[in-house]
Amino acid sequence: MSENTIALVTGANKGIGYAIAAGLGALGASVGVGARDSQRGEEAVAKLRAEGVDAFFVPLDVTSDESVASAASLVEERFGRLDALVNNAAITGAWPAEPSIVTAASMREVLETNVIGVIRVTNALLPLLRRSDRARIVNLSSHLASLTLQTTPGVEFGEVSGTYTPSKTFLNAVTVQYAKELTDIKINLACPGYVATDLNGFRGTSTPADGAKIAVKLATLPDDGPTGGLFDDAGSVPW
Ligand code: NDP
Repeated sequence: MSENTIALVTGANKGIGYAIAAGLGALGASVGVGARDSQRGEEAVAKLRAEGVDAFFVPLDVTSDESVASAASLVEERFGRLDALVNNAAITGAWPAEPSIVTAASMREVLETNVIGVIRVTNALLPLLRRSDRARIVNLSSHLASLTLQTTPGVEFGEVSGTYTPSKTFLNAVTVQYAKELTDIKINLACPGYVATDLNGFRGTSTPADGAKIAVKLATLPDDGPTGGLFDDAGSVPW
């Protein structure tokens, strides 16, 4: 029998990240709950453990080299490897964010979390993922990030954003490059749909549990599963 899956989810103290942690835990994984705030992280771990999930707290601010290095050390000391990394943490930044009013500071802040944070976390955890015989990386993207959908007449989109939306398109591009390099690790992008969370003032139309499904699926792909793709529950999403 293969060993338990060891997973780490960033920004797992609430919203879709919490639901991904719960979903992976329900499949029997030991789940690191990455959170930048200790109290919020510990509370999420307690709630997950009460639901029967083998959850443990991982202090993790994706914008900090030091915090990310400590998180990698924690996972290494406890398990010696990592099987699934879910880069879920993200921010929308200042809102409204039409391109004409975006400041350099706000653009930097969003990219620092949504793109550079993913690179920072991924590269710090890669040595541990390389020790796994079933390593998977999932980056949370969005239908909003699809240039095809953005430029298809008749496709309804939310508010214009010069920061959040292109940050996710950038993340898509970075993920494709990782997939070309990492031939032994499957890395894919998950589009959770429009989910009611803090990120959108709970205006989303589906639940975190539903939004988590595609990320959980991609984090536990079989060996013949895809890599370098953008997926929602229905299948491939156009770039
Ligand atoms: P939430 O705002 O509910 O949760 C975001 C999580 O990220 C929180 O745990 C937050 O922590 C954490 N976070 C933010 N910045 C950092 C940081 N610097 N270091 C560590 N953690 C951080 O968002 P959602 O659950 O809605 O979003 C989860 C993912 O899904 C995101 O990548 C988002 O872009 C994507 N997505 C969401 C959609 C939706 O409809 N909700 C649609 C498409 C994609 P804290 O509590 O401390 O702020």
